[in-house]
Amino acid sequence: MLKNRRSRLIRFFEKYSLNALLITDLRNIRYLCGFSGTEGALLVTKDHAWFLCDSRYTAQAADEVTGAEIRECAAIRIDTVVALADENGFDRIGFEASHTTVSAFRRMTEKLPNVSLVELGSDFDEIRSCKDNTEIEQLALVAALSSAALVSVLGSIKPGVSELDIALALELEMRRRGADGKAFDFIVASGVRGAMPHGRASDKIIQSGELVTIDFGALKNGYHSDETVTVACGKPDSRAVEIHAIVRAAHDLAIEAVRPGISCKELDEVARSYISGKGYGEYFGHGLGHGIGLEIHEMPSLSPRSTAVLEEGMVVTIEPGIYIPGFGGVRVEDTVVVTGDGGHVITNVDKQLFFL
Ligand code: ZN
Ligand code: ZN
Repeated sequence: MLKNRRSRLIRFFEKYSLNALLITDLRNIRYLCGFSGTEGALLVTKDHAWFLCDSRYTAQAADEVTGAEIRECAAIRIDTVVALADENGFDRIGFEASHTTVSAFRRMTEKLPNVSLVELGSDFDEIRSCKDNTEIEQLALVAALSSAALVSVLGSIKPGVSELDIALALELEMRRRGADGKAFDFIVASGVRGAMPHGRASDKIIQSGELVTIDFGALKNGYHSDETVTVACGKPDSRAVEIHAIVRAAHDLAIEAVRPGISCKELDEVARSYISGKGYGEYFGHGLGHGIGLEIHEMPSLSPRSTAVLEEGMVVTIEPGIYIPGFGGVRVEDTVVVTGDGGHVITNVDKQLFFL
């Protein structure tokens, strides 16, 4: 499995004529060698790899790391990179430009005066876009856990409880069901707050007749889930019900359109043109969705600006919404695996409008 993942690096050695790749992003490190700790680096050549860590992580690395020689760094990690570059005669090393700070880059430049440091661009950020079966299993597991937690707290959503009460109950349910934590700060946005696509749970008390948008996800074994429901507390006005029906139909159409070969821009357009046709286009301001995996938001992005094309094995969210300032909003979201036959939804809560 890790061998297959490493094989995705080959084209970068060729494209940039590199001797080695220096991987410092912890998600990429976990993906490529299995280490789940919070500090370390991976130096990879075409046929070898070294995992560098300090003594706090040596035992954990010995337990988790596959396919890399573990090098404990006595002093600063970059000195070990310098030593390995000298020993092996490396003169071109690629690094992850989007995960390297300016100060770390300066330090590398000073310490490695005879090595060309080559920026790996956005194409490198796409190495995790297509998931393997192990990853799809992990994503399905955390999605199911998270959906079950939401279903078990639905009954406690009623007038008089606060948005924060719901967020806390949901997080507790996830932990009880085995989650390592939450995937992000949940969005619980009720009534007019629903117009904020990223309205984090507040101490606002839910009133009868309000819609409540809950965007939630769990984290397990490094993998994230992401799902959104909008429920009605009491009887909402007819416009709210109409908006929910439009968003849900746009969501359903987009999920039906998921297949390998469709461009992410075109998929976004399926939902966007439906919402626009109903007169609400100006109220759908964000992209249709995003890739999900070891990060909550990763490649590919589904938006009018996206240049990516869906491929089998990608796992993406579909999350159209309508947000009307001063009125409120609706979003529904599912996580979908792109298979040869189309989209397979792994989040489990029905997206009908629940009246609580
Ligand atoms: Zn979400
Ligand atoms: Zn999302």
